[in-house]
Amino acid sequence: MDKLDTNQLDKLDTNQLDKLDSYDKAKKWLTTHVHKNFFPRNPEFQILCDLIDRHPSKSSWSYQKPKSFKISRSPGNGSVVLYVRFEGLSKYRIVSWVAAAKGKLAKHQTGDNTKLNGAMRYAIRVQIQMYRKSHLTQICVLCNSGHRIEVDHFPVHFVDIKENFIQMKTAKGDPPPTDFKWHAKRGNFMFKDGTKANSYYEKKWKQAWQRYHKTHATYRYLCSTCNKKTNQSQPNPEIKLEDLPDILPITGPTLNIITN
Ligand SMILES: [Zn+2]
Repeated sequence: MDKLDTNQLDKLDTNQLDKLDSYDKAKKWLTTHVHKNFFPRNPEFQILCDLIDRHPSKSSWSYQKPKSFKISRSPGNGSVVLYVRFEGLSKYRIVSWVAAAKGKLAKHQTGDNTKLNGAMRYAIRVQIQMYRKSHLTQICVLCNSGHRIEVDHFPVHFVDIKENFIQMKTAKGDPPPTDFKWHAKRGNFMFKDGTKANSYYEKKWKQAWQRYHKTHATYRYLCSTCNKKTNQSQPNPEIKLEDLPDILPITGPTLNIITN
């Protein structure tokens, strides 16, 4: 596609690719429009609006009206990245065009990927334990109960820290490991730890995740009952941790973190 000239591309776009409702169509279209910005005055703008309208979590975004689009390539692996600037926000954010084109979330975003999710949780358990050790008064911040207290990621949900990290690493060309080890005694999937020669990548990835989580996670105590009520397992795709103050909800659902 890169080799087609502009006239050919225009013809292709208007005649065949005006609706980006499959991975292949969207990839083809975005690839031919890479390194360009689009504003409401451009005909391509509406095509991109229609594309992100297909994103399965769009209805939960707090900013939904696009002001401009930017199509770029990841410096790491060269994959096409769609940036959207929404009305009310000054910065561009990444929106998953794959999820939009397919109309469904990627596997690691749906909770189907229990191995990766389990390993990522397991890798930060010590950080949760440290929080408990340094905050000895364990009272639910919502109802004052002291019964069955759990550590809750707040105000940024675990799932958003996790997704942000995965997206950032993937954009750099370091996608999550796909091969894990099973810890039968603990009943948990874990990252391979580098003791085998071929698991160095897994080890580095885990360590980067641990550092990232340590930098970004903050917590509160909730009792088991309140934690279940506020349970939030779907990521908010618009959360970008570097500019969180713009978009943090004042209150909102949170994620269950059961550490014991
Ligand atoms: Zn409570």
